[in-house]
Amino acid sequence: MAGRLSGKVSIVTGAGSGIGAATARRFHAEGAKVVLADISGNQEDLAKELGDGALAVHADVSQGESVQAMIAAAIDTFGRLDVLHNNAGIDGEIAKVADMTEEGWDKVQSINLRGVFLGIKYAVPAMLRNGGGSIINTASMAATVSFPQMASYCAAKGGVVMLTKTAAAEYAAQGIRVNSISPGTIQTAITDSLPQDMIKAIIAANPVGRIAAASEVASLAVFLASDESAFITGSDYLIDGGYTLL
Ligand code: NAD
Repeated sequence: MAGRLSGKVSIVTGAGSGIGAATARRFHAEGAKVVLADISGNQEDLAKELGDGALAVHADVSQGESVQAMIAAAIDTFGRLDVLHNNAGIDGEIAKVADMTEEGWDKVQSINLRGVFLGIKYAVPAMLRNGGGSIINTASMAATVSFPQMASYCAAKGGVVMLTKTAAAEYAAQGIRVNSISPGTIQTAITDSLPQDMIKAIIAANPVGRIAAASEVASLAVFLASDESAFITGSDYLIDGGYTLL
C-alpha cells in the first residue's frame, strides 16, 4: 500500500533526537525519502537503521553554507525536495532577562530563529523547481504563553510563527505551503535538560495531566507534509494537551 508521503523527498533537521528523530521515522514509514540532518552525529545511527531511502547529513542550521549543503545533498541523492521540517532547536540559557548573557541570547536566536530563516531561504528555490512543497517549522507553545527565564527561547519561537506566516503569504501562489507546529511539553532531551520543578509545574498545569511522546508531534508533521493538508498554509498548530487553554 502506498504511504501518505509516497514519492516525496524530505529533510528533517534535528533528526538525531526527540521530535526530529520521531518525524524522520514516520516520514520514512509513510514512503518518503528522508535526509536526516543534525550536528550531533546521532542521525547516522538512525539513518542506518532506516536503510534505503534515508541519508544522514551533518548540518548546522545556524550556518548558511551548511544549510545550502544539506539541501544540495537531498537533491544530489534523491533528485528533488518536497518537504522541509525546520525542527532543530535548543532551550538555551535559563536566566531572567537582566541576567541573561548576550552570548546566551544570540545562541538561541541563531539556531531557533535564524536556522528556520536559512532553511526557508535555501529550500524555496529548490521547491519552486518542482512546482511547490511543504515547509513545517517547529515553533512552541512558548510562542503563545511566556516561560520566565526563557526569554530568548520564547522570543525566537514567537518569531518562528510570524516568519512562517510571512513566508506562507509570499509563496502560496507558487505552491509552497509553510506551517508551524507549536508543541507543548514533549518527552525529549530538551525537557530532560530543564529543571525538574519546571517540568512538574508544567504537568500540574496541563489539562490532560501528562506530557506527550515525540511520536504524537510526528503524526501532525506527517499530515502537514502530505497532500491531505493541501489547503492549509500560514497556520500554527498547538499540540499542547490544552496547556495554553487555562
Ligand atoms: P532534542 O534536543 O531531543 O532534539 C533537538 C536536536 O536538534 C538534537 O539532535 C540537536 O543535536 C539538534 N540541533 C541542535 N542545534 C543544532 C544545529 N545548530 N544544527 C542542527 N541540529 C541541531 O529536542 P526536541 O525536544 O526534539 O526539540 C525539537 C524542536 O522542538 C526544537 O525546535 C524545540 O525547541 C521544539 N520544542 C520542543 C518541546 C519539548 O517539550 N521537547 C516543546 C516545544 C518545542
